[in-house]
Amino acid sequence: MSYTVSEDIEVLKKGVREFVQNEVEAVAMQIEKEDYIPDKIVEMAKELGLFGLSIPEEYGGLGIGMVGKCALYEEIGATHNGFTTLIGGHTGIGSVGIVEMGNEYQKQKYLPDMATGKKIGAFALTEPQAGSNATNLKTTAVRKGDKYILNGLKHYITNAPQADVFTVMAVTDPSKGAKGITSFIVEKSFPGFQVGAIEHKMGLRGSHSAEIIMEDCEVPVENVLGEEGRGYVNALTILANGRAGLAARNLGSAQKLLDLSMMYAKERVQFNVPIIEHQAVAHMLAEMAVDIEALRSFTYRVATMVDEGKKVIKEAAMIKLFGSEVYNRVADKAVQVHGGIGYISDFPIERFYRDARITRIYEGTSEIQKNIIAAQLNKEYN
Ligand SMILES: Cc1cc2nc3c(=O)[nH]c(=O)nc-3n(C[C@H](O)[C@H](O)[C@H](O)COP(=O)(O)OP(=O)(O)OC[C@H]3O[C@@H](n4cnc5c(N)ncnc54)[C@H](O)[C@@H]3O)c2cc1C
Repeated sequence: MSYTVSEDIEVLKKGVREFVQNEVEAVAMQIEKEDYIPDKIVEMAKELGLFGLSIPEEYGGLGIGMVGKCALYEEIGATHNGFTTLIGGHTGIGSVGIVEMGNEYQKQKYLPDMATGKKIGAFALTEPQAGSNATNLKTTAVRKGDKYILNGLKHYITNAPQADVFTVMAVTDPSKGAKGITSFIVEKSFPGFQVGAIEHKMGLRGSHSAEIIMEDCEVPVENVLGEEGRGYVNALTILANGRAGLAARNLGSAQKLLDLSMMYAKERVQFNVPIIEHQAVAHMLAEMAVDIEALRSFTYRVATMVDEGKKVIKEAAMIKLFGSEVYNRVADKAVQVHGGIGYISDFPIERFYRDARITRIYEGTSEIQKNIIAAQLNKEYN
């Protein structure tokens, strides 16, 4: 399937590509070594409007719909995945809750600053005992007058150390299971809120995930996001909304790996010929290209369905699964095409290989996506 984007988005896409190629790529090794994204890069991303990717124009965002978002995410995916994750965490899951479920007061209060990147967003669902089974939350929220008092601990929360605004899921009625969970907008400045230990990870340098700890954390009643008892559904909606975007970022990374592998295979000579002339190498490149084209078509099909207002529970899970698996397959082949240099940290391939691995785990593991797809199929074949 082909897709078209407006001229405006083509212009934005070109601007993002130039920024990624000229600025982010220039500091990719630095990010990797220092585990820090230079302030200059973050400021430039703000100027380009990248923090407002998911936010409607009326609140200061780009207002470009899912196809437009995917077109830009594809460019953002083609560089250091720590940077990609900073933007993806904020725009994919960190601000979408307020866009989708927020009331007018909440949108006016939070979105303009989130659109400019003045305030960074994060999404806080996971707890030590509640990973794939996200209904098993222990964080509680008890109403006291005009406040809710939150107590509990979340872990692995992307962007937590930089974030100002968190979408937090907590149990308001333990007797109701998933229907007893409510979502809240929690500011880092609220009394009783604290960011805990930063995790040491396999990759995604420059992107930081940490615990958040709420001890008698006071959240005003007006910060309930959506209806009480709808927090789990809200979390699933936010995650489903993010899945086409994550696939587009994976697509960008996979395409970058193919580009690097093609260049290398044409240059590198073994047995007196460029290695692309060895059929085994050429076949790996062909397989990478097929996977990438299939991912591109599928990503924009799902994005188009989202823009058309169609229900995409099954397709969102499929694209999350397929995008992650394609990125991992392509990264593995890219290392193989590069031989030894693919394993050496002075070159970008091994970084992408490590960074690809998380995509099969976060925002719902590959196994959980298969469970969602199978459950939907089961309903369809009833
Ligand atoms: C770097 C990073 C960033 C993250 N960012 C965020 C964030 O911003 N916000 C947030 O809320 N969370 C975040 N997470 C958490 C992430 O979403 C969870 O790690 C993920 O959902 C898996 O949960 P778990 O780690 O507890 O693994 P578990 O749920 O314990 O799973 C372990 C294994 O068992 C399998 N498994 C479990 N249940 C089933 C089942 N029913 N059927 C088949 N297989 C099953 C899993 O697929 C997996 O292979 C992040 C995690 C990491 C590592």
